[in-house]
Amino acid sequence: MTAGDAAALDARDPLAPFAAEFHHPLDAAGGRAIYLCGHSLGLQPRAAAACVERELAVWRDRAVLGHHEGARPWIRYHERFATALGELCGAMPTEVVAMNSLTVNLHLMLVSFFQPTPARNRILIERPAFPSDRYAVASQLAFHGLDPDAHLIEVAPRAGEDCLRTEDLLAAIERNGEQLALVLLPGVQYLTGQCLDVAPIAAAAHASGARIGLDLAHAIGNTPLRLHDWDVDFAVWCSYKYLNGGPGAIGGCFVHERHARRIDLPRFAGWWGHDPATRFAMPADFAPIAGAQGWQLSNPPVLAAAPLLASLDLFQRAGVGRLRAKSLELTATLRRSLEELLPRERLEILTPRDPAAHGCQLSLRLRPGGRRAFERLTAAGVIADWREPDVLRLAPTPAYNSFSDVRRAAIALADAVRS
Ligand SMILES: *Cc1c(COP(=O)(O)O)cnc(C)c1O
Repeated sequence: MTAGDAAALDARDPLAPFAAEFHHPLDAAGGRAIYLCGHSLGLQPRAAAACVERELAVWRDRAVLGHHEGARPWIRYHERFATALGELCGAMPTEVVAMNSLTVNLHLMLVSFFQPTPARNRILIERPAFPSDRYAVASQLAFHGLDPDAHLIEVAPRAGEDCLRTEDLLAAIERNGEQLALVLLPGVQYLTGQCLDVAPIAAAAHASGARIGLDLAHAIGNTPLRLHDWDVDFAVWCSYKYLNGGPGAIGGCFVHERHARRIDLPRFAGWWGHDPATRFAMPADFAPIAGAQGWQLSNPPVLAAAPLLASLDLFQRAGVGRLRAKSLELTATLRRSLEELLPRERLEILTPRDPAAHGCQLSLRLRPGGRRAFERLTAAGVIADWREPDVLRLAPTPAYNSFSDVRRAAIALADAVRS
């Protein structure tokens, strides 16, 4: 692809103007770096600072009155995210809530949705799962007096393969049948960028009598989600990756509508999950809000949530359909450019080629010397990331990357591999 081809694609890209609504980091020469790391930390929306400063001003000028006053009373601040998060998740606004951080939310969901019995006490996850998820489920098993070595079932890719096969997940669910309590899987696998086909897996989990939860860290804001229709029981996510909410931003949680009123489920309760009509009467007994909000513990961290409003506004204006369409084109362009420019024997792309089976990320193995190529790529002003021992992850993000970015990154990587 020539520079002219890339420029022509950018010229007819309806989302191209959105790149100017983000701050882009600089490269060593003081120019704009090419940022392909939205899978780790999304860029800062230009409007984010104003969103934070507005709340700092309310705190400065009105102090405690800010809870009830003004355009965005803090007491209901979390509600401002529900519509946009619902759209991103394919869920009703009452099925989603912005709260805590991902791993905290995962533990809260496990408290409610992993209730082992002597007969049904296994959790199925993928290998390699993100370490935090594995620590969370192993510690929950131990908390219930169960040995993770015996009760944690890990489904790995087949020998010589990097991605999971749906048929293998379905077979493992069936094999563990009546002993399976919970299936916990990623929407998009963090290492390979593989997007799982959730609906049949959820159906199989339920058919075996288990529950299913999703970790959407790499999926939300990246791939189309239909959580309600897929019938998953719960999902959790962080907001600092594709949602551009800023480091340590407020995370989120989905609880399927059919559990909205399940007061019989065990849950760790806090006052922010209590019915707001009587919350300040300070009753002794907990009466949860129906829906995902009923799992809240504390009042929302307004300053850690404000930037997310700026980002969700961008998502709503760009539209998830248009973002996905551009994402598929960008990633296909990156794949083609890499295949064109890199020596065939040096390039292995782990991410599936099927558009339904990937988001924006491509994961590569560059043998030999992958780590050195990554360092040269960074020095050339392309920000990507490296996962030991040998995976380079590149994520062209449709809200702020261009076709020219992708072309230049592929050329820089080809140079890095050759030199
Ligand atoms: C990024 C990521 C996390 C991060 O967890 P925090 O609790 O937000 O620190 C967890 N799980 C997966 C799969 C991730 O990709």
